[in-house]
Parts: sequence; structure tokens; C-alpha cells
Amino acid sequence: MPTDKEILEYHNKPRPGKIEVVPTKPCMSQGDLCLAYTPGVGLPCVKIQKNPDLSYDYTDKANLVGVITNGTAVLGLGNIGALAGKPVMEGKAVLFKRFADLDVFDIEIKTEDPDEFIQTVRLLEPTFGGINLEDIKAPDCFYIEDTLRREMNIPVFHDDQHGTAIISGAALINACRLTGREPEDLQVVVNGAGAAAIATARMYVSLGVKKENIIFVDSRGVIYQGRKQGMNPYKEEFAAATDKRTLADAAQGADVLLGLSVEGAFTTDLLRLLNKNPIIFALANPEPEIGYYEAKAVRPDAIIATGRSDYPNQVNNVLGFPYIFRGALDVRASAINEEMKLAAIHALAKLPREDVPDSVIRAYGGTALTFGPDYIIPKPLDSRVLLKITPAVARAAVETGVARTEISDPGAYIQALEA
Ligand code: NAP
Ligand code: MG
Repeated sequence: MPTDKEILEYHNKPRPGKIEVVPTKPCMSQGDLCLAYTPGVGLPCVKIQKNPDLSYDYTDKANLVGVITNGTAVLGLGNIGALAGKPVMEGKAVLFKRFADLDVFDIEIKTEDPDEFIQTVRLLEPTFGGINLEDIKAPDCFYIEDTLRREMNIPVFHDDQHGTAIISGAALINACRLTGREPEDLQVVVNGAGAAAIATARMYVSLGVKKENIIFVDSRGVIYQGRKQGMNPYKEEFAAATDKRTLADAAQGADVLLGLSVEGAFTTDLLRLLNKNPIIFALANPEPEIGYYEAKAVRPDAIIATGRSDYPNQVNNVLGFPYIFRGALDVRASAINEEMKLAAIHALAKLPREDVPDSVIRAYGGTALTFGPDYIIPKPLDSRVLLKITPAVARAAVETGVARTEISDPGAYIQALEA
């Protein structure tokens, strides 16, 4: 872990912040000036006015993502406000560029009023190829994303919800394979009922988990039908017909324990209550509900994932958002729909089952990576992820009719991604 001094210097030197805007066209001569700006620039304007789709040909829209927040749920820091959230949004821009060569404008909107936020984002549609909503508190994030998805003609994707749902969904598929289970047979306990937990449970249902086999637990205990306190419509969606009331009651005999809550929420005694070969995803960041080694010590039969890079099976959103947006923007998609998310999940789940190239093994210190309990999801620095997830998402967009263009030559497309 870098020191505080190193972190602040990284953000401050040689110039403040982490991103800049770089022109992609020359602007050295009088002729260049006429092309870049007036009078030449008028021509693409008129073309776009006649045919809005040409904005993808003559502007950076096709490569530009808006990373937009109101700063109400930043990392684990809580509601620190739009301005204080800006380093995170710039960081996300760095990752989009590094992993998928997408450009980002980070936009911090100073309001906690969901409707004011929606109205502001809605009006930005001409600028972007897609919108990555970020670090917006639950339950507002559900209403905001649902409304914007309905009202906008470009992809709107709240990464805190779907990123985790997608990466941990891929992990769940592989954990099922390794333990000889089918999703429909799983008894699942979800600890936490915020943005990430609700979206992840919805995705698990899409993957075959039975909704009636899921029990949610929040800071007040089990979310049961008829509970009155601390509820909202999204928790209501998963309220269980059960007389279980505590996390321990719920964990008794469960196959999957999914933590999207807070550090330290799982004890070793709790893990002892789980079924054999349990699947334990302790995903709270930066510290999980229980540490990998602590969990493994009491449940050597478990498959364990966390959000930490120093443990096996890191569930890290960077395995998803750069490639999902790259695939969506490359076919000028109007949305990122369920089929595109599922395509990403299945492509991600497939990778660990294939032979891992030496370049990836070298990036991780030479340790062999073979499909098994400690390798159920690809590593974040695996360069194959771009080449597998991106085309899968683009293909799903075309097949479901949300793409404005097609990929005419898939082989050439993958070569271009590689370059
Ligand atoms: P959020 O919207 O604030 O939700 C947090 C939820 O945790 C709330 O439902 C809260 O309950 C519940 N909670 C708090 N203390 C609890 C306890 N002791 N027992 C059970 N539930 C408790 O946050 P979020 O965005 O969903 O994120 C949740 C956690 O997941 C964070 O630690 C975040 O860093 C992590 N996360 C990890 C990844 C990853 O890829 N590894 C991705 C996204 C999020 P109430 O509703 O009762 O307040
Ligand atoms: Mg986030």
C-alpha cells in the first residue's frame, strides 16, 4: 500500500489531477485551423443536423463516456459530496482509458435531489456515447437509473449495481461448476440490501437462482414479508416469506453467502453454519466481511471471493465496465440491456476455464493459474478480457436490436481491439 504522501503526490504532480484532453487532429497551420474550427467545422455540423447518427462519424461521441456522480455514496466514504468525489471519477476515467481506450469526461453534479440530477444528465445526451453513473446512494440510484434508461437513447449503466452483479455472476457460475451444483438448487443469503446487493440478487435470478431461495439481511436483520422498519420498494421486492430473523438463522444450511455490506460482518461461527462446499463472496470494500485466510481456516471446503487484490478471486468491477462500454459504443448501442450483461458474464466465466497465457502468469508473479477454487474469475490485468468480453457484448447488442451499426468483420474487429 502506498503512503499518504505518495498518494497525494500522485494526484498533485506533475500537474494536479489524473486526466487531460488531448486533440486527435493536427492544428499547426492556417489550413489546420480552418479544418478544426471555422469555417470548415460548419460542414460536419450541417451533416449531423440532417442525420444525427453522423455524430458518431464526425465527433468523439463514439468514444466518449460520461462518468457522472452526485457524490452521495463514494467508495466506502459515504455522502462526501460531488466535489470530494471527483478524484474517484477521474480515477474511473484512467481505468476506462487504460483498459478499453475510451475517453471520459467526469461530471460531478451538485445536487441530492434525484429529479434535478436526472434532468441534468438527460440534457447531456448529445455529448456522450454512454453514461456510467457512479457512487449514487441507494435507493435513489435505482430510480435515477431506471428513469434515465427509459428517457435516454444512449446506454446508461450504474456501475456500482451492475459491475458487481456481472463479475460475481461469472464467479457464481464457475463456483457452481466446481461444486457440481445448478443455480436453481442454491439457497442464497445476501447480507446488505443496497445498490450492489439488490442488483446482484436480480442478476443471480437471471442466472437461474430461484427468487424464493434468496434471503436478504440488512443492518436490521432478515428482510421478511411484513417488516415495516427500514424498508423501501427494492427491499420489498426480495422480502422473504420466512420466520428467520437473524443472519445466523438465514445462514443455517445455506449454499451461498454473499456479502455486500460492511467490513467484519461475517464471523467464523457464522461460516460454520453453511452447507458443505459453501460459496462465500465477502465483497465489502476496502475490507471484506471476513478475510480470505480467516474464512479458509474454518471452511477449507469453501470457494471464497473478496474485493481485495491480495487474495485469490478478486471481484473487481474493472473486469466489466471498460469492456462493456467498449462493446456497446463500438456498435453505437442505444442501451446496455440484460442480454449484453449476460453475454459479459458468460464470456468472463469461460476465461478461467481456458489455458492462461504466459504473459498473464508473468503479470502475476509467475504463479500458475488453473481453474479451481482459487481461480474462478479472470485477473484484472488479463489482456484476454478485452478480446473476449467486448465482442460478446457488441454481438449481444446487435442480436437484441439495440445497435445502430453492426460489426461487419469480427476477425478484423478483434485485431483492431488488440492493436
Ligand atoms: P450501500 O448501497 O450503502 O448498501 C449497504 C448495505 O449494507 C445497506 O443495505 C445496509 O443496510 C447494509 N448493512 C450495513 N451494515 C450491515 C450489517 N452489519 N449487516 C448487514 N447489512 C448491513 O452500498 P453498496 O454500494 O451496495 O456497497 C455495499 C458494499 O459492497 C460496500 O462495502 C462496497 O464497497 C462493496 N462493493 C464491492 C464491490 C466489489 O466489486 N467488490 C462492488 C460494489 C460494492 P441498511 O439498508 O439497513 O442501511
Ligand atoms: Mg463506485
